[in-house]
Amino acid sequence: MTPVSHALLPVFFGRRWIPKTGKTPSPRFVSLVALCGALPDILSPHLYLDSRYTALSHTLWAFLLFVPFIGALAWLFPRIFILPISLLCIAAYGGHIACDAITGGVSLFYPYSHTVQGKNYLPYWLWITSDGLLVLYIYLVYRWLPLRRRFRERRTAAPLAIED
Ligand SMILES: [Zn+2]
Repeated sequence: MTPVSHALLPVFFGRRWIPKTGKTPSPRFVSLVALCGALPDILSPHLYLDSRYTALSHTLWAFLLFVPFIGALAWLFPRIFILPISLLCIAAYGGHIACDAITGGVSLFYPYSHTVQGKNYLPYWLWITSDGLLVLYIYLVYRWLPLRRRFRERRTAAPLAIED
């Protein structure tokens, strides 16, 4: 799975818990959840599966460190890391590892074990399709729906022009 889907999938599934600015999910919280979703790939960028199998960011240990890290951030920045966002960040990081497990596998216990958990269950064309659909979703939520809403408000607020 590509970093695009890793970033946007938790936003898509967690949208109901993301606080809203007006009627749109708040961009700063969306960015934070997306960042946590892509974080394992940001911490250890890779192009090939072999590199993923030796990436410490894709291990159980990294996930177990990430949970108290988010807890510390929630303690330091309680207005940003509110409970739903903290939980979404943790789910996004864990979800990344789970998604990688079904799209090529991960070595959860590396460096203590080189055994790979999972394998590629999804064809590559589905990865790209997933990217496209999720980018379309973000476009609809952040551009198309607000524009549509604004257009409707303007239409109902404007007085009717009466000719003759
Ligand atoms: Zn990954």
